Amino acid sequence: MKISVVGTGYVGLVTGTCLAELGNEVYCIDIDSRKVELINSGKSPIYEPGLEELLEKNLGSRLNATLDAHSAIANSEITFICVGTPPGDDGSTDLKYVESAAEKIGEVLAKKGAEGHIVAVKSTVPPGTSEKVAEIISSKGAKGFGIAMNPEFLREGKAVEDFMKPDRIVVGAAEEWVSGKMKELYSFTDAPILEVDLKTAEMIKYASNALLATKISFANEIGNICKKLGIDVYDVMKGVGMDARTSPHFLDAGIGFGGSCFPKDVKSLIHIARTQGEEPKVLKAVMHLNEGQPLRLVGLAKKKLGSLQGKKIAVLGLAFKPETDDMREAPSLKIIPALRDEGAEVIAYDPEAMENAKKLLGEKAKYAPDVKSAVEGAEAVFILTEWQQFRDESLYEGKQVFDGRKILNRKSGGSYEGVCW
Ligand code: NAD
Repeated sequence: MKISVVGTGYVGLVTGTCLAELGNEVYCIDIDSRKVELINSGKSPIYEPGLEELLEKNLGSRLNATLDAHSAIANSEITFICVGTPPGDDGSTDLKYVESAAEKIGEVLAKKGAEGHIVAVKSTVPPGTSEKVAEIISSKGAKGFGIAMNPEFLREGKAVEDFMKPDRIVVGAAEEWVSGKMKELYSFTDAPILEVDLKTAEMIKYASNALLATKISFANEIGNICKKLGIDVYDVMKGVGMDARTSPHFLDAGIGFGGSCFPKDVKSLIHIARTQGEEPKVLKAVMHLNEGQPLRLVGLAKKKLGSLQGKKIAVLGLAFKPETDDMREAPSLKIIPALRDEGAEVIAYDPEAMENAKKLLGEKAKYAPDVKSAVEGAEAVFILTEWQQFRDESLYEGKQVFDGRKILNRKSGGSYEGVCW
């Protein structure tokens, strides 16, 4: 099929590249000329395992990046909207990028003739948004197009694998020809396809992320209690997760969730609930617990070391999770300033997120070129992201370790403290 993808971020570039790898002809559109140039030179603007290889393989033949939305949309039969939906100050979802993408699509479809063209919203959007997108497109004079809502469930760091081998596909649509064509596009996978209406598809994405975030905050709360009782919460959650009703995933206690999705989507769902006169108690508690969780590691360090004034502390892991360079809502953004406020000298290292981290943390930290130089001379080491290379026990000889992710297989006490075990 001929596909255009609006937005070449984590979702759009992975979607476009994987669809090209699967034999489709794909145009990836962005307004950011730097990203378009990078992609067309075979370089991925984001770090995502396996993505650059697929990009290089398909570039120029089945895959092209462009600033020219007009010809890309005009030359395709399905257009995905994969632009960002950042949070507003009140937790609401800022839909300006989605709306401006819809306007552009409307203008192009009105000229080319929209009959049989599908616009599929992949961005995470509040219920009712896809209908609004259709209205914007129609208002430009386009007629006969179909609208679909096709939420994306990929995990950063495993995005290519998740796109190629999804657990499930959700297709929201009001018309059978639209869901039929979307199912044809996804015929490469054996995953079950759930067909629902547009609003239900939109809500499935929020509810899925909210449940995963709830599992993490729940594990953290149990972990905080376990820490006081001298119990390892990982042993507890192993036992809990063995129950077939529970599933063992997303029960890893630690310094809390971050990233571009969970915090934003839970806050957005809280806002959506309030607009309907509902006060969401569970969701509020999930966020409240998560906001305090990173600073528990700093509290532990103060308890163990006394004043942090003038102490040299290595911070390993800046991205919100391993295998990504994404710094959005990363716990490091709370922990490093808090360490600085306590008078500590921070030397930070991350295998992929250093450039993005420097933009956000600036002079709050010094930056080491590799993990060994980061820990050299440090009195204490904070582990914030579970990168594989941080599992090397020899890095920590003679150091006081504060582990936020249970990366080392140790019990708390002496030179090792886990945040909730
Ligand atoms: P991102 O910020 O990485 O990328 C968005 C891209 O859209 C940027 O490159 C931006 O320049 C581009 N853009 C903005 N307006 C545009 C326009 N009018 N035309 C063309 N390009 C435009 O965002 P992301 O992380 O890929 O997320 C995109 C959406 O998918 C969000 O709604 C997010 O909630 C959702 N989502 C993200 C993930 C994830 O893991 N990142 C997973 C599932 C769903």
